[in-house]
Amino acid sequence: MGSIENAYEKIEDIVGTKYTSISRVICYSYSMNCDTVLQGIPDIVVRPKTSQEISEILRIANQEQIRVIPRGGGADLTGGSKPIGDGGIVLDLTRMNKVLDIDLKNYIVTVEVGISWSELCKKLSTIESGYYTGSTGPASGFSATVGGGLSNNSVGGGGAAMYGNVTEQCVGLEVVLPTGEIIYTGAKANSFCEKPFTRFGLGPDYSGIFLGDVGIHGIKTKASLNLYPLPEYAAYSTYDITTNKTKREITIATEVMTEWQHRGYPLHDFYYYTEGYTKLLTMFQIKKNLANANVQGSILFYTTTANSQKELEHNVEKIEKVASKENMRKLGDTIGEGNLGKWFYEENGRWQWAHIYWGLYGPEGTSLGTCLKCPTYQLPEYVKLYEKWSNVNTKKLWEIGGGGANFIAFGCHPSYIDVTGGLAIHSDPTNRKVQFELWKDMIISQIKELGGIHYWMGEIIGRSLVDSGALTPEYYNFMITLKKALDPNKILSPGKFYLGEKY
Ligand SMILES: Cc1cc2nc3c(=O)[nH]c(=O)nc-3n(C[C@H](O)[C@H](O)[C@H](O)COP(=O)(O)OP(=O)(O)OC[C@H]3O[C@@H](n4cnc5c(N)ncnc54)[C@H](O)[C@@H]3O)c2cc1C
Repeated sequence: MGSIENAYEKIEDIVGTKYTSISRVICYSYSMNCDTVLQGIPDIVVRPKTSQEISEILRIANQEQIRVIPRGGGADLTGGSKPIGDGGIVLDLTRMNKVLDIDLKNYIVTVEVGISWSELCKKLSTIESGYYTGSTGPASGFSATVGGGLSNNSVGGGGAAMYGNVTEQCVGLEVVLPTGEIIYTGAKANSFCEKPFTRFGLGPDYSGIFLGDVGIHGIKTKASLNLYPLPEYAAYSTYDITTNKTKREITIATEVMTEWQHRGYPLHDFYYYTEGYTKLLTMFQIKKNLANANVQGSILFYTTTANSQKELEHNVEKIEKVASKENMRKLGDTIGEGNLGKWFYEENGRWQWAHIYWGLYGPEGTSLGTCLKCPTYQLPEYVKLYEKWSNVNTKKLWEIGGGGANFIAFGCHPSYIDVTGGLAIHSDPTNRKVQFELWKDMIISQIKELGGIHYWMGEIIGRSLVDSGALTPEYYNFMITLKKALDPNKILSPGKFYLGEKY
């Protein structure tokens, strides 16, 4: 191990005293993300302003053999943006928050990655009649950054059912490699190319190795994303789905969502709240409008957008025809009558639903997250898995004041859905070991029993992927080889996927 004092002095010279700290209080405040189980206290916290400063910090980290963990908004739910174990440098990127270029010839926006999604959306919405980047980013977008979203392969609302994960909108990056070199990916890798406009060309898609990498391959500093005009017209409806004689409500909902996707209907977003989650929302009056609407089963809501009123009406007719099934009751049009689709679109529900989800268990509770991409047809199997898992683990959950496991599903892509779930627990710190074991067990059962494709790899999920044996030895060796080539001194985010520990 190198010297923390040496590193601190050198970094302070680069970034300045105001933005470099070894104070225990500051370091402690960077030791956790939004889960209440995983913790690692860094030695140094630094808040750089430029890519050049990051490059110099990484060179120092290599010389002093100190690990570095990039952090955006710190809204990760699986322990990604803090050290695994104590020690190291946390690099807070939120001072790098400028919109650098809005290119209305190519419809591309280039930003510094520390900008939050909500700040970016706000800025874009005021230009001419308004723009956005396809989706509006994760539901944590009030604090989560573009860099965090691209590193976590994030999905969210505000257009994701139509445009996909945020990484799919990325056309190029500026990245500081673990050894300090700064590179561009995408069209800008050709230094004669004036503006970024595509990720592909010039050989392999090297942006791809930094997208969803949870900061193991490099530190993203700038990103270029597609731009779309804000839709002029929007419509939304919400349904209460109950079980009938032959089908469970989950099967009815899955059939509707699958048909919507297969027919390629212009769904901007759609969300499905399982019966259990809907019960919680209504029982505790968390969403009063649902309780007032006398909701009996599970909830499905959608939003669709168009460029004219005529086109909108046409979309609504087609979408609602598929949804006009027995046991699907359409709620009233207003938010007060339970129209969550309208709330989602008009009152920024897209950035609020998850706060309700993670806040369900009250101030002393939390939900240990598991988030994955799921073939739409497979959704009923996830319901069964959650039910089975909760039954098997009821006793252990009760012992630690846990309230079971639940999830919601949403359109995160034109052809598959997302299952965002969690394990509701009482966040008593004395039970962290049991909480961790239960959480990991749930993740591994998703990976092994249903081939789950998780995307926030953080600390726990990346390691569970390796521990479950899901990765073939050849694939895992390929990951190790790539990591070794990029980061020979194992300084960047070591321990994720156990990388840096196994070479
Ligand atoms: C209430 C709530 C709602 C949420 N909703 C969603 C949702 O809808 N969809 C979703 O996908 N997630 C969601 N999340 C999880 C998380 O907030 C997101 O994944 C988000 O994108 C993280 O962004 P961040 O800036 O906070 O990243 P951080 O937590 O700071 O970092 C996330 C990971 O990326 C790495 N990283 C960060 N910046 C960089 C960079 N510039 N270069 C390299 N690596 C970097 C970190 O090391 C870490 O591994 C939610 C979390 C909460 C608490």
